[in-house]
Amino acid sequence: CGIVGYIGNKNTQEILLEGLSKLEYRGYDSAGIAVFTNDGLRVAKAKGRLANLEAKLEGTPLIGSAGIGHTRWATHGKPSDVNSHPHTDESQKFSVVHNGIIENYLELKEEMMREGHTFRSETDTEIVSHLIAREYQGDIVKAVQKAIKYIRGAFALGVLTEYEPEKLVAVRQASPLVIGVGEGENFIGSDIPAILKYTRNVYILEDGEMAVLTKDAVELLTIEGNFIAREMIHVDWDA
Ligand code: GLU
Repeated sequence: CGIVGYIGNKNTQEILLEGLSKLEYRGYDSAGIAVFTNDGLRVAKAKGRLANLEAKLEGTPLIGSAGIGHTRWATHGKPSDVNSHPHTDESQKFSVVHNGIIENYLELKEEMMREGHTFRSETDTEIVSHLIAREYQGDIVKAVQKAIKYIRGAFALGVLTEYEPEKLVAVRQASPLVIGVGEGENFIGSDIPAILKYTRNVYILEDGEMAVLTKDAVELLTIEGNFIAREMIHVDWDA
């Protein structure tokens, strides 16, 4: 339903929660965040209102320099803590938030279970984290490109891996996604209001495109890996 992501030196958790609060108007049944902390990629998620997630984080905040967040509107798997996003693979080294529907997730899930993968949730989304982990050979951008070749449906994705903590990867296929450009920090959002408090400079991703964010740069490319030159839009309205 709603996606937000951040990479930079400010308070990641606060920025993610603020962004998620701006996405509340879309409606949702659960919320969650993943943040790179000194102990690696850490996930907190909770069924229900954002306040439930905030309560979980109270006293044990996730402190780090990159993160992704999600508000879920369940399509596959009931609203529950475990079905909430972000989803990870078994190694917990890859973390994914997803808006939309993976139409062929069941056949992929059965195939990967035969390969020995174990799944925790009932969602269509979890397959994406396992596919990216399986395809990973040292380059998260290539792994995402390979993984999405297997999936059909509508998706906007935010992806983090503990192996490349300086990168945040986003992909769009029939589900909206914008990239926010800051100074020494960059953002992703499923809509502009989610990031408008922090930047007014945005790129709108088109279908079949992806973005690779570091704190100092944004690279736009097609899912085949060709670089895209796109004009930045300056947003002059207020949410
Ligand atoms: N299909 C995914 C799920 O049910 C994502 C739903 C959404 O866009 O929030 O978990």
